[in-house]
Amino acid sequence: MIAFGPVPSRRLGYSLGINNIPAKHCTYSCVYCQVGRTTHMQLERQEFYSVDQILAEIGQKVIEVAEAGKKIDYLTLVPDGEPTLDLNLGKIIGRLKQFGIPVAVISNASLIDRLDVQEELMQADWVSLKVDSVDESVWRKINRPHRHLSLPHILEGMLAFKQKYPGKLVTESMLVAGLNDSAKTTRQLCDFLLELQPSISYLSIPTRPPAEVEVTPPSPETLQEIIEICAERVPFVDLLFEAEVGDFVSTGNLEEDILSITAVHPLREEALRAMVSASGGTWQVVEDLLAGGKISSIRYRDERYFLHHFKDIRRRNVEPVS
Ligand code: SF4
Repeated sequence: MIAFGPVPSRRLGYSLGINNIPAKHCTYSCVYCQVGRTTHMQLERQEFYSVDQILAEIGQKVIEVAEAGKKIDYLTLVPDGEPTLDLNLGKIIGRLKQFGIPVAVISNASLIDRLDVQEELMQADWVSLKVDSVDESVWRKINRPHRHLSLPHILEGMLAFKQKYPGKLVTESMLVAGLNDSAKTTRQLCDFLLELQPSISYLSIPTRPPAEVEVTPPSPETLQEIIEICAERVPFVDLLFEAEVGDFVSTGNLEEDILSITAVHPLREEALRAMVSASGGTWQVVEDLLAGGKISSIRYRDERYFLHHFKDIRRRNVEPVS
C-alpha cells in the first residue's frame, strides 16, 4: 500500500503517509528499526514505483479523506526504507504540490551529501534528517550503515543542505541504552546540532519492540541526564516520545492502563492526570506505582513525564551488517 493514514502526529498534525519504497530497501539497518533487518542494503538510487502510480494512489486517498470530512496537514514521504533512494523523489514531490498540501520527507540523511538529493529535497516544505550519533563507531553500531557510507560526508552534507534549504529542517535522534546514551556522546551530538541550527531537534526513544533485535531506551536516570545536558546547551531540542491522544485505550483497570501506556510511550503529567480523572481514580494509584518502582518520572523543562521502569537493559546482535 503506497498511501496510509492520515495518522495524528505530534510533529505534523494529520499526516497522510506515502510509502514510496518497498520494504526494506535502505542504506542503514538500524538496530531499532520497526521493519526489521534491511534485506536490500543499497546506495544506488532507483525507480521503485512509477510517479503516475504514486500520484494516482495519493490523489484517490486525498479525495476519500476530503469526502469523509477529515483534514490532511501534510503529505509525508515516510516509507519502510530510505525515501531518498527513490530516483523519482524530486518528480514526486513536485507533482504532490498540485494538492495544495505541504509535503514532508523523513530521511535517514545518509545520501544528503549528494547534490541531486539536496536539490530534490529543496522542494519539500519540511524535512527531517536522522542524526543518532556524530561518533563514527557509535554510528556504525546503532545505524549499521552500508560499508561505503562516510559519516563525515553525511554531516557535511547536512550542513551544506541547511545553508540553502528554505523550508523547515528538523533532526531526529533515537536514544538507545548502551549505544548512544553516554554523556560524552550526548555532548558531541549537541555540538553538532548547535552548528547545524535546525528549527527543532527531536529526541526519541524506542517505544515499540523492534522486529529484529532487542533494544531498550536509556534508563530513566540516564534519560534525565541526557535531557539536562541537551536542555542546557541546545534551546531547540524537543522530546518526541510522549503518548499521542490516540494511544489511550481504557481497559477499566487504571493501574494496568498506566503500565501498558508507559511501557510504549512516556506520558506527560497533564495527560496522566486527565486519564486518572477520566477513570474516576485518584492520583494515589500513580504514587503507589512510583513507590513500587513500577514506573519512574523524569523532568524536562517545566514538564514531568512518567515512564515504565526498564530494569532489564540488555542488548545483543548490534554488529555492522555490511
Ligand atoms: S533508516 Fe529507517 S528504515 Fe532504514 S533501517 Fe533505519 S529505521 Fe529502518
